[in-house]
Amino acid sequence: MNDDEAAVVSDGPGRALPGLPAPPPPGASALPPGTYDGTVVLVTGGGTGLGKAIATEFARLGADLVIASRKEERLKAARDELAALGGRVTAVPCDIRDPDRVAEVFEAAQETYGLPDILVNNAAANFPVPAEDMSSNAWRSVVDITLTGTFFMTREFGRRHLAAGTPGSVINVGASYAWTGGPGFAHSAAAKAGVKSLVETLSVEWGPYGIQVNGLVPGLMPHEDMTADIRGNLDRARNKAARQPALRAGAPRELGWAATFLASPYARFITGHTLVVDGANWQRRGLVSPEVVTVREQMGLGRFEG
Ligand code: NAP
Repeated sequence: MNDDEAAVVSDGPGRALPGLPAPPPPGASALPPGTYDGTVVLVTGGGTGLGKAIATEFARLGADLVIASRKEERLKAARDELAALGGRVTAVPCDIRDPDRVAEVFEAAQETYGLPDILVNNAAANFPVPAEDMSSNAWRSVVDITLTGTFFMTREFGRRHLAAGTPGSVINVGASYAWTGGPGFAHSAAAKAGVKSLVETLSVEWGPYGIQVNGLVPGLMPHEDMTADIRGNLDRARNKAARQPALRAGAPRELGWAATFLASPYARFITGHTLVVDGANWQRRGLVSPEVVTVREQMGLGRFEG
């Protein structure tokens, strides 16, 4: 991300506003050391970006990790990085759209460590495109990965825990356009609305069995693994920090800390909730609405010719 301008927002001459304070440094944690000793955590998309940041915080607190996604090379590199934090890490290649492969991930986890206690549904797919340009394949692919894949993972987790009579915790990583809609992201916004709905439905269905289901929504959290499409979208806006009420972007570890809290013993009465970690950016409104700019124009696309 090329953010070449410093964010300077003031409420008067010579009075720059600080925005929200910076987070503690990497390696810090609000939870006691060893909170996740003996706990197995399965993170989809745990080899890159925010999934890796979440996996990192669980590893630092003693968890055994299973990371799953399609690309074996990236998974292996992440496995070695995460293992350097001291815990045990297993990487299992899997396309979450395929329920048989999903079952295999759980089999592999169970053979190695036991049934995962915590499932973090972080894997998703996304790229910006005006709805009128969106191919059927693009729609299907994003909805299949983000919504259907999340459901297949969660169903497998729930079935195994219900059969075993054991408690568990699911965290679905979402997006704030599940509430607001997401111009330029019709496929992903619709899928994330479904993912948020699963949190609300399954927390009620499975609460009696001891299974918590929560959502976790990141805000602007740039990271080195962002796809070219998403990075390009971000690069269209200059001075990104000044566009956030926090006057800064979030650090991926701030999402990791929230995930480790939500799945911890200290959050046992929190379920069916979606926690937004975005510095209040999704609530932002002005006294006066900004002028409307079409998605096509924002993306530098010409007129739609059909
Ligand atoms: P990312 O870098 O694009 O990572 C997506 C991950 O999902 C990759 O590890 C990918 O691995 C995996 N994946 C994709 N398709 C898969 C499939 N069919 N089966 C299994 N794994 C698959 O995304 P991110 O930026 O870290 O975002 C993580 C989560 O946060 C996502 O749910 C995203 O929607 C949400 N989010 C992010 C932001 C942000 O600022 N970054 C903002 C709002 C919400 P493979 O390619 O190896 O399969």
